[in-house]
Amino acid sequence: MFDNLLRELRALERRSITVPIDSDEKGYIDKECPSTNCEFQFKIKDEDWKNICRDEGVWCPMCGHAAPAKSWFTKAQVRHAERHAHRVIESTIDGAMRADARAFNGRQPRNSLISMSMKIGGAPHFTPHRVPAAASAAMELEIACEKCTCRFAVIGSAYICPACGHSSVDRMFDDSLRKIRAKKDNVDVVRDAIAASAGRDEAELMCRSLIESCLQDGVTAFQRCCEGLYASTGPATPAPMNAFQRL
Ligand SMILES: [Zn+2]
Ligand SMILES: [Zn+2]
Repeated sequence: MFDNLLRELRALERRSITVPIDSDEKGYIDKECPSTNCEFQFKIKDEDWKNICRDEGVWCPMCGHAAPAKSWFTKAQVRHAERHAHRVIESTIDGAMRADARAFNGRQPRNSLISMSMKIGGAPHFTPHRVPAAASAAMELEIACEKCTCRFAVIGSAYICPACGHSSVDRMFDDSLRKIRAKKDNVDVVRDAIAASAGRDEAELMCRSLIESCLQDGVTAFQRCCEGLYASTGPATPAPMNAFQRL
């Protein structure tokens, strides 16, 4: 009686449902770090994702976590794909049951004392169009890896190339200087915001701490830059711990 339904259910077990993913206006597609401690969102140029990144491993630009290429879908993309798959399954089952009902009704004898018919209630579910998963807004900071040329985009900063895992010493140092400059340039904005919610005393304490942290940031950035440059020369012995700060 349910031949169509059983056949479609068996076919669904073997069927894979694909959903396209849109790139943003700059040609980047959204990615998200699969590490639950990180979940960093970034973008990667669509053509570089296809041509440079390898299926075996992609690196998180922020935390360096490595995972196969199929692990980097964003939560929004996964939700979109799940909704589409749900609608495809619904329409497939609905269509098969309606076909079974038509076949059943067609087999019933006419002019019989007792008649039976099958009816599937509700509005029919039509096969949904494959709507691509939408891209999020473009990110301003675009980076090209100096080693493999892969282009990716982030908000704030990132040091590690998602395609080859290369960690750029220069970029790390530049990002540290940008952070220090951003702290210094926005002290008044932070002061006004904290003063409005927590009072002027706390605002002053916070801003003083913010400015003082710039010196520590500078020393740490210089230390890391020196360590990275030294390591890139392939030294026989590794650099001692915090060598610059212990001079
Ligand atoms: Zn990460
Ligand atoms: Zn690279």
